[in-house]
Amino acid sequence: MGALALVIDEPTVVEVSERFRFSDENPLTLEPYARGRFGDLPPYIEDVIVEQLGLAPTRWNALVGAGEVYSVVGPFQEFSLAGFLRSVQERDVWDGSEDVCGDCWGTLAAKDYDGSVTGRIDGVYVCFCAVH
Ligand SMILES: [Zn+2]
Repeated sequence: MGALALVIDEPTVVEVSERFRFSDENPLTLEPYARGRFGDLPPYIEDVIVEQLGLAPTRWNALVGAGEVYSVVGPFQEFSLAGFLRSVQERDVWDGSEDVCGDCWGTLAAKDYDGSVTGRIDGVYVCFCAVH
């Protein structure tokens, strides 16, 4: 029992994968991204909604509220986060110039500098500041 409790207490590492679908689980709420309003989604997902789907946050929230996200974007349609992941991997060390989390620079995506978190050097994972 003691060993099991230790395992459960470990924070869960969720890697940010290169592709995602809006039916995938939002690590912040454990519900599909399609059910998450702005503010409940990781910023890098919100960027895709605005920049790739061309939807304003208010429009997205209205779709979520009406349960109609899948009428705009198919549940199995895939989106790439490759460019975003590259920008995370190219980060240098946080210079502390802004008042945000130094592990993810406020993006909720943290770089695994030495591979100690994900097992891969430069892996990208959902920052522990995001998952409570
Ligand atoms: Zn963070």
